[in-house]
Amino acid sequence: MELLDGKKVSDQIKDEIAAEVAQMVQRGEKVPHLAAVLVGNDGASLTYVGSKVRSCERIGFESTLVHLPDTTSEEELLEKIHELNMDDSIDGFIIQLPLPKQIDEQKVLMAVDPDKDVDGFHPTNFGRMALDMESFNPATPYGIMELLKRYGVVTEGKHAVIIGRSHIVGRPISILLSQKANPGNATVTLAHSRTKDLKALTLQADIIVSALGVPHFLKADMVKEGAAIIDVGITRVPDDSRERGYYIAGDVDFKAVSQKASYITPVPGGVGPMTIAMLLKNTLLARERHRSKK
Ligand code: NAD
Repeated sequence: MELLDGKKVSDQIKDEIAAEVAQMVQRGEKVPHLAAVLVGNDGASLTYVGSKVRSCERIGFESTLVHLPDTTSEEELLEKIHELNMDDSIDGFIIQLPLPKQIDEQKVLMAVDPDKDVDGFHPTNFGRMALDMESFNPATPYGIMELLKRYGVVTEGKHAVIIGRSHIVGRPISILLSQKANPGNATVTLAHSRTKDLKALTLQADIIVSALGVPHFLKADMVKEGAAIIDVGITRVPDDSRERGYYIAGDVDFKAVSQKASYITPVPGGVGPMTIAMLLKNTLLARERHRSKK
């Protein structure tokens, strides 16, 4: 079994980007600038946004955090997005999800300029991805593809079973794995909460991507010998014995499943850090697009 070490690979990617940024500085060019919009004070969202901003600083990007109160109205948020779309100093920005219930998420994501949509959630980018055109791929599935590529995990002709059909992970990874590309060229089954006899499907899988958010859901008896396992799940499980009051659990019963797997991602330290690295890669691409429009 080989561990797919997302922490190590994401550090490599960040070093590569930092080297490019250093060259920009040497040439006297403007460095990439990422803005993050956070509405409210959700604990997990604060952690995610904080680590995105810190990663920007570490590799030499400019970053701006726009922190709005949880009473922000949809109109106020849309106005902020309009400002960010128009702000020539910002190359790309993200809206941290979930949003407070008074705000329509779909409406907000539609308002982002597709050329600044480094999360790849705008229908223009999602559609471009589905049509094999250059786009901002959503960071988590993009990170999974990069991890498979850098470890040389063969996907061509393999059967990939994806558990979960969310717009940010399950659905887009099903598109990327089935693309005529390398990695890609897999035969994909997209499973979800209405799927019947999931175990019969996962037992046929050469690759399993688990993205449902149920701790230790994928057990060893659901996995074929030699399968590659990608665990996307991140769930905070209450635990009073720990100082912070919880621990982070993945979707996979790691101890038992790793005995059968050919490759497996740990949680934490697998897909999570790759997500941030790919967001930075998308911001680099946004800067190129931005410069070519001038
Ligand atoms: P979601 O929470 O929006 O949806 C869950 C999906 O799982 C749904 O499509 C549902 O149909 C499916 N599902 C639920 N129960 C099921 C069952 N018993 N059998 C089969 N399918 C079932 O999904 P999400 O936003 O993609 O999040 C999934 C998990 O991934 C969460 O733990 C989330 O925290 C994590 N996540 C991690 C990263 C990362 O960077 N590592 C990024 C995004 C999400």
